[in-house]
Amino acid sequence: MISQNSLEFDKKHIWHPYSSAVNPNPVYPIESAQGVRLQLSNGATLIDGMSSWWAAIHGYNHPSLNQAIYDQTEKMAHIMFGGLTHEPAISLAQKLIQLSSDSLKKVFFADSGSVAIEVAMKMALQYWSSIGQPKKNKLLTVAGGYHGDTFGAMSVCDPVNGMHQLFSQNLMQHYFADAPYCDEATQRADLNSFTQLIEQHHQQLAAVILEPIVQGAGGMRFYCANYLVQVRALCDQYDVLLILDEIATGFGRTGSYFAYQQANIEADILVLGKALTGGYMTLAATLTSDKIAEGINHNGSGILMHGPTFMANPLACSVANASLDLLATGRWQQQVMQIEKQLSEELNICKGFSSVADVRVKGAIGVVELKQAVDMATIQQQFVDLGVWIRPFNKLIYLMPPYIIEPQELSQLTQAIITVLRNNGEENC
Ligand SMILES: *Cc1c(COP(=O)(O)O)cnc(C)c1O
Repeated sequence: MISQNSLEFDKKHIWHPYSSAVNPNPVYPIESAQGVRLQLSNGATLIDGMSSWWAAIHGYNHPSLNQAIYDQTEKMAHIMFGGLTHEPAISLAQKLIQLSSDSLKKVFFADSGSVAIEVAMKMALQYWSSIGQPKKNKLLTVAGGYHGDTFGAMSVCDPVNGMHQLFSQNLMQHYFADAPYCDEATQRADLNSFTQLIEQHHQQLAAVILEPIVQGAGGMRFYCANYLVQVRALCDQYDVLLILDEIATGFGRTGSYFAYQQANIEADILVLGKALTGGYMTLAATLTSDKIAEGINHNGSGILMHGPTFMANPLACSVANASLDLLATGRWQQQVMQIEKQLSEELNICKGFSSVADVRVKGAIGVVELKQAVDMATIQQQFVDLGVWIRPFNKLIYLMPPYIIEPQELSQLTQAIITVLRNNGEENC
């Protein structure tokens, strides 16, 4: 049980994500988590609708993930990766190379998604400068994207709605096409603005970067595979690399193992994170092809200038191996399909609410987009009172539960959204 003093200390001294350290919203003390249930300090349990931000796909306190960590702890918790290597990293690289597309053969392990994005951008920039085309040093992306909070990553996040406007003076300038749009009925994709920009600027473009199929933290928008097919074709036509950020979408969330597989395309650089370790530890990976690695090597040195202290941490690699083994049984496919079906059925009613702008579902992701931003502190307390952990942002109330969630537990999540919307009437939500 966390004391009132501890909570006061937290409030006074600790920054939480995207929050004020002076005037913070309340935080809820949590003791433990098991399966899809979070145990609060006051004894209440909440059903988890967030998977700790896309990560905890197998639920919490999973015996085989725990075991992987125990076993590895007794060998070594960490060892520098400079000049040394170990079985958990090798085994994980083998699996990732096997799971992703045929051309991706080189793996860089980073310690967070944002850092893996920085590495992907460096790879692309270093590739072109090494092969004698240093003018190809800009990126093209789409509005509505999110790629992380470090400076390189921020420079390709949505420039208007992104969380990073404050720093616009300090960011590298890149090109932004309109957010991806597909007509739902015909699956026709609108690439007018994207095509214009790539035609106009390809001589300065190192790479295109985007999140395939689902734009996550930038607005929870979905778009069709056909858009990606055409992006790939344009990248090929204009000799621009394609970086796919699967940090949120990877490992089954959208219904396929990787979201880009729905378009049947390949990335030149692929970035993975979040669910890579089943939500246990921080780890990310940037994969690329022999072509890019050899290009980087072209001017002789061949050195990729990056090397985080905790690169390829053995505990993180071990639990990632165990998580990928769980996925290899294939049960996630039925689970995600079932979640998709149930979310569609149960959230559908929200379409009729006057406070709701849109309801959409893709794989194990359900989104209720409101017409107005929510009052976070109020709505958060309402959800907690209903026994669920749902954390909205801005106009978005969304669910992305662990794949192991049972139908009646998922119903508790969807019912909580409906109840909160009904209780709040149209104005406050
Ligand atoms: C979360 C996220 C990132 C950043 O990952 P961190 O581990 O939080 O640094 C990058 N891209 C996408 C698509 C994400 O969802």
